[in-house]
Amino acid sequence: MRKLFSTIIKLTKKVVSYIFYYTGVTGYILKKKLSNKTVILTYHRVLPVNLRDKSFSHQAILVDPANFDMHLSVICEYFKVIDTRVLLNGDKECEPRCLITFDDGWRDNYEYAYPILMKYNCPAIVFVPLDYISTNKTFWQEKLGYLMWHASKLDSNKSRALLNKYGIDEICKSEGSKKQSAIIDYVRSLKARTYKQLEEIKQEFLEIVDYGDGSYVDKHMTWDQIRELDKNGIEIGSHACSHKILTELAREEVISELEKSKTSIENNLQAVVKSIAYPNGDYNDVIGDVTRSEGYMYGFGTEFGHVDESSNRYNLKRININDTVADNKPVFLATLIGIF
Ligand SMILES: [Zn+2]
Repeated sequence: MRKLFSTIIKLTKKVVSYIFYYTGVTGYILKKKLSNKTVILTYHRVLPVNLRDKSFSHQAILVDPANFDMHLSVICEYFKVIDTRVLLNGDKECEPRCLITFDDGWRDNYEYAYPILMKYNCPAIVFVPLDYISTNKTFWQEKLGYLMWHASKLDSNKSRALLNKYGIDEICKSEGSKKQSAIIDYVRSLKARTYKQLEEIKQEFLEIVDYGDGSYVDKHMTWDQIRELDKNGIEIGSHACSHKILTELAREEVISELEKSKTSIENNLQAVVKSIAYPNGDYNDVIGDVTRSEGYMYGFGTEFGHVDESSNRYNLKRININDTVADNKPVFLATLIGIF
């Protein structure tokens, strides 16, 4: 029933977006609503559909390269694409502006997004989590998804008992992409657990599954790749070190995460790090204070909205983009404007 409801909503949005687009309403609202405003887009992964069966990332963070190419053509047509040098500077131009950002420093940003950014000559910011760069580590969500998927294939008493303990034995009886997305959804539902609890779950599965190098597509960039981006007009920002939610850490830990990530990136690139994106977008006044005192110029959150010169520069609003909200031009533009 819920699925049917969300399909109807999606279809309605699509129909309205098409009507608005082809009658010129979208273009009119865009000019009215976004003059002197900047739309900051949040991308995570740009991963081809044919590699999705190797990945344990949630669809909320996935965009296909062909869609990303379409997005840039739309952005270049309707917006002035900017970088942080002019963000919030009170530019008196009326033209709507767009800033493109990527969270997490996924390796596919280098492999798929970067060539398309170069094709359109678009600047962007990539926020990298220090502890994952040039390593085989990946986030707990992708790692746990991989472990559960492989545990479900073991067909042993131990694996059955473990899947049963976490109540996923039933969903693991389905096959292929259905099973994969059910596991990914289940892992996402664990977000409220503490890092200690998540570590314990991981350890239980590691006792029965040989993790090895994990999924080859769920990897982060290397320093060589990051240096190449930096040399070619892509700004590198911090995404802290551990990717832990900053509002759940003690002030000293937040200081350490922000200071260490900034200094290490600067030492590696011989460039000043001006920006940070907070992991999961979680923000409060303490985070804002530390960000300012550590010398960052901008902090990016995940709250939905557009920005202008009056915005809080330490909690900049953004619009999250994935294939489900942006697989065609009219819906993508409606999403950017915030029609829905
Ligand atoms: Zn992140």
